[in-house]
Formats: sequence, C-alpha cells, structure tokens
Amino acid sequence: MEPVDFAHAHIRAMHSYVPGLQINTPDVIKLNSNENPFPASAHVLRALQKALEENRLQLYPDPRASALRQRLAAEAKQETARCIVTNGSDEALSLLFRTVLGPGDRLVIARPTYSLYPILAQMQQAELIEIPLTESWNMDFPALLKASQSAKLCILANPNAPTGVVESRQALLDFAATNPGLTLVDEAYVAFGGESVADQAGTEAYPRLLTTNTFSKTHSLAGQRIGWMFADATLTEQFDKLRDSYNVSRLAQVAALAALEDADERQRRITEICSNRDRFARELEELGFSTLPSKANFVFTRPPESMRGGLIDALNTRKVAVEAGVATAKLILQLLRSEDILVRHFEAPPCTEYLRISIGHWPQMDRILRLLYSISRR
Ligand code: PMP
Repeated sequence: MEPVDFAHAHIRAMHSYVPGLQINTPDVIKLNSNENPFPASAHVLRALQKALEENRLQLYPDPRASALRQRLAAEAKQETARCIVTNGSDEALSLLFRTVLGPGDRLVIARPTYSLYPILAQMQQAELIEIPLTESWNMDFPALLKASQSAKLCILANPNAPTGVVESRQALLDFAATNPGLTLVDEAYVAFGGESVADQAGTEAYPRLLTTNTFSKTHSLAGQRIGWMFADATLTEQFDKLRDSYNVSRLAQVAALAALEDADERQRRITEICSNRDRFARELEELGFSTLPSKANFVFTRPPESMRGGLIDALNTRKVAVEAGVATAKLILQLLRSEDILVRHFEAPPCTEYLRISIGHWPQMDRILRLLYSISRR
C-alpha cells in the first residue's frame, strides 16, 4: 500500500479550503482576506512586549484561557461556562462540526456563504444542503427553516460572506427559536454594522443557538489566531473534550486580553473602516458598478460590462494573458494584481460576475478607484 492509501477515502476525495493569496510584502495592497488594515494597537504591542520580557514561554498557557473567557462573557452579558476560546473562529467551527455531525447528518447553509463550511461538512461526511439567497441576496428564512426540519445544524453568517449583507437580530432569533436543530450565527464581521445575538446563545429562551466570533477582523489580530464561541454550557463541555488542551498560545491570550481593553481605539478604527466602505461603494456606483449593501469590512461588487473593452486593452498593454470568455470581474482582479493590489474573486455561480474587495485605508481604496476611472475613460 502507498502511504497515501492509508488516508480515509473521504479525506482523499476532499478539496482543501482555498484561502486568499497570502503575500505579505509591504508594497502589496492586500484586500483579499478581509483583514483589518490597521496593525495591532500600541496597547496590544506593549502587553506583548511585557509578556516577552517576563519570558515565560517555557510554560504552557492557561489551557482554558480563563481570564479571556471571563472578559468575553462579561462583554456579551453572557455566562463564562457558555464560552470557549479557540485558535481562530475556524477552530470553533471545526469543534462544532466534529462534535455534532457524523456520516449522513444534515447541515443547512446559504449559497453563497463562507466557503469553509462545505469543506468541514465533507470532513465529517455530512450531507450539505445549500439554500440559495433571495434575489436581494438575503437569507431565505422560510426555505432554510424547511430544510432544517431534518438537519442537525444550520449556519447563518451575519453579516454574510462574501456578500456583506446583514439580517436583523429579530429575524435571526425567530429562526433560532423555531429551528428544531442547532443554529449557529457566525458573527466574524458583526462589529462592522450587524446586531449581535451572542447575548442569547445557549440561554433558556434560545438553548439551541450558538454564536462564533473572532479577533481576526475587528481587533487586528488575524496573525495571532484567536476566536470564541458561545453555546449552551453542557454542549460547550463537549467541545472542550475535543479541543487541543493548549489550543490558544500564551501570547495570543495576552494579545486578546489587551485588545479587549482597547475599546476606544477599536471603535475609532471601525468607524473609519465603515466610512471608507460607504464612500468606496458610492464611488463604485458612480463608475457603474452595482454593489450590495455591506455591513462588513468588505464590499461585493459587480462591474459594468461597458468596462470590458478598456480592461482587455489595459491587460494587453501590460502583457497579461486574457482568457476568452473570462468574467469582467476577473479581468479587474488581473488588472489590480498587475499593480500589486490583491482582491478576491469566486468562480462558482452566483459569484462569478462579482469581486469581493476588503476595505483598507482610504489612499488604498483611492488607488483602485483611480485605476478604474482610467479604464472607464478609455
Ligand atoms: N467566519 C467567516 C464568515 C469568515 O469570513 C472567516 C474568515 N475567513 C472566519 C469565520 C474565520 O476567521 P478566523 O479563523 O480568522 O477567526
């Protein structure tokens, strides 16, 4: 037997999650992974420096991240026993899938949504049911509810990715109350304009509601890998059994605690990102793009077909190969790439004609706009 033949057949049949290109050289404008354009705050850096000077890295970290769990629970008006801290919120998702889904169990998600969910479903050999968004790119709650009657778990990202479209707190709570299975609301982007339901996760009124969130977006700590989940306390105990004992590093815990103390700075940054987002969307509208109303730190936008000729000319001038029949959105991705600006494009319908652009500092957004203006004038 070849070494690879020892791997489970369903793992061999799986595709990996495809992350955005991770090029971290300073001259690249990186707007393809919805990271925060601001670096970690001075307060976080001081806390990390202090931890380095104390140099206790030879010791394991607090296995349950107790101080952090308490802080997160207090901020969400939640009980600490309902909170688990994880290595990025991706680990929280993986713990949830591994705990509740097995071969043939059903999972309901929207289409499109975060592309990791189907991968985790394959890992568990769960059956995936995808419910298309409505014409306005909103959640189709009646259809989701119908499909959920025979499912163990339904995941709703709010705001959704890659669209940025938000649902109301009441709609999410009503869904969670009536869904006979578990409802996970993924709140990775909620601080940019959504209404969190984290305070209700695992409560008497909403026992089957769970929420996940992350330090990657709002807190500028994607590189440290910290996320958290709220759920019913006895369900959280089950996650704890599967979690690596020391899943969140000592420095990650220090950074996260310091980031929570830095609420004013965080709010200033959120305000600036949201204002850049709304201004960018308005300017794109002027250029003939149609942009979904975003409450996240990115926009999902469709370029006008009238730009196509200008784009092909510009790419030819730059000696960038253009495939026949490729979507106009992808031509823009290629043009931006030739200028060291990274954005994201998803091939699968209904995303083919759209680009997802993370919101950076205004001069970065302005560079994109100026490039697009120069094309639309051709
Ligand atoms: N949920 C959604 C909807 C996301 O877009 C992401 C980021 N890719 C995550 C969760 C995971 O973020 P992290 O693991 O960095 O916490």
